[in-house]
Amino acid sequence: MSFFSRRVCVIGSGLIGGSLALALKQVGAVADVMGCGRNSATLQRALELGIVDHYSTDIAEAVQGADMVVLSVPMLAMRDVLAQIEPVMQPGMIVTDVGSAKQSVIDDARAVLGDKLGQFVPAHPIAGTEKSGPDAAFAELFAQRRVIVTPLAENSEADVARVVAMWECVGAMVECMSAEHHDHVLAATSHLPHLLAFTLVDSLARMDESREVFRYAAGGFRDFTRIAASDPTMWRDIALANSFEISLILQQYQQELEDLQRDLQTRNAQALFARFSRAQTAREGIKL
Ligand code: NAP
Repeated sequence: MSFFSRRVCVIGSGLIGGSLALALKQVGAVADVMGCGRNSATLQRALELGIVDHYSTDIAEAVQGADMVVLSVPMLAMRDVLAQIEPVMQPGMIVTDVGSAKQSVIDDARAVLGDKLGQFVPAHPIAGTEKSGPDAAFAELFAQRRVIVTPLAENSEADVARVVAMWECVGAMVECMSAEHHDHVLAATSHLPHLLAFTLVDSLARMDESREVFRYAAGGFRDFTRIAASDPTMWRDIALANSFEISLILQQYQQELEDLQRDLQTRNAQALFARFSRAQTAREGIKL
């Protein structure tokens, strides 16, 4: 199915919303992009960068005339944004999101969209960087990357197909799954690593000898902690939005750390080697 929109409204024209707008423009899949956010300065920058063609800080005004509205704001802002869109949602308008956790935004939509819930198609592109804002946006971000769509029972097949087509036309590979499964898997592969990276950097930074520790930081530290430079608001919101699944995987990981501690204290070379070998084999088999 091909995709064309006469107007996409991107609420939150930062890294993800901005990159989607640029990508849709690059492939000629949109006639007009309307930007929306809280600050005129951010939106003016998005205009200068060619991400949006117009902007408004008024959500109800911004969505007028759009056939596709993309919510690309931090997770805890979703409910308020959806509540402001609901009164002006027209038949035929699809609202979708890019949030990193799915059950919480679905709960938000159920709470505020009433009989318009079927027009909301939840989605999450598995692509990003540690940078934020319109200056971080680039059109190629989604090429060959996965996007997960978690359709609702209330969605029409046609609306889901249109959201799938939008992502496919910017080069993404789309899969559909339940929100529950999405949140379970992403807790392990994305949310846990981010929280571990933030915690590692924070705990080292608070050590008395932190200056010296960071002076001798090398490639391993850089690779493991790059994502700790990500936006704290976004990650606070993701942590809270998927707290149940993250807690479960964190508990499991804590047990693994205790086992590691025990192997170190008992100088169990065999167990350490077995753990590192299993990880090396698994890591070599992962295509990223
Ligand atoms: P970002 O670059 O910081 O962009 C967020 C945008 O939302 C900003 O332009 C901000 O502009 C606007 N905004 C913030 N609060 C708002 C509010 N209450 N009402 C309206 N606009 C608001 O963040 P991002 O990385 O694009 O992330 C956006 C969404 O994508 C998040 O839900 C995140 O979970 C998801 N996501 C992120 C990644 C990633 O790697 N970064 C990957 C996949 C999905 P103003 O400050 O001007 O309002």
